[in-house]
Amino acid sequence: MVLEVEAMYAETRGLTGLAAMSPPVRAALGKVERHRLVPAAQQGLAYRNHPLPIGQGQTISQPYIVALSTDLIAPQPHHVVLEIGTGSGYQAAMLAEVVSRVCTIEIISSLGKEAEEKLKQLGYRNIEVRIGDGYQGWPEKAPFDAIVVTAAAPRVPAALLAQLKPGGKMVIPVGASGQTQELLLITKDLEGRATQKAILPVRFVPLVPRSGA
Ligand code: SAH
Repeated sequence: MVLEVEAMYAETRGLTGLAAMSPPVRAALGKVERHRLVPAAQQGLAYRNHPLPIGQGQTISQPYIVALSTDLIAPQPHHVVLEIGTGSGYQAAMLAEVVSRVCTIEIISSLGKEAEEKLKQLGYRNIEVRIGDGYQGWPEKAPFDAIVVTAAAPRVPAALLAQLKPGGKMVIPVGASGQTQELLLITKDLEGRATQKAILPVRFVPLVPRSGA
């Protein structure tokens, strides 16, 4: 699985202009037990480079996109990171391998609770799961060194940008749901100005409710 993902990463380097994936992210990919985060029926497929259904019409993202998103935020061991869309907990686990603390928000209570339980069983003590609307972020824990949004938004939610530290990075798929979106890397400079770079076309499930944009 790791080799397959690395090959894809190398192929898209031309497209994205990215350097090689950092060694800590590569190590995290090999470490996170994806088969323990997917439903039992999907376990045989856990190490393919594909998204998989996790119930409630939601999916666990493709390992490549999870690794890429983790790498794009330039994670540091002291970072506190916010994730929107806990889903299976896989992206949260990847982040938890390379940063100090992960705060993750899931709007579907059953999914969030199940992910929380599984992440605990896997031994992660640095992930906090909250059931709620990710459009609002997590003001009590803000500001964050980085934010990873794992559901598609029509535009960058203002509350999330406000909760990003100066110098921080956000990865977010932006575009209409049901269509291809653009995975954006937003960087907030030390004066608080945000710039964005389109990384590659992706297809994520939508961030709901859309009225919260
Ligand atoms: N990061 C996940 C995959 C996410 S799929 C993983 O690694 O498995 C997107 C998730 O975002 C779904 O679980 C969906 O329920 C959740 N979601 C959608 N809108 C949301 C919102 N407004 N706030 C928080 N979570 C949301």
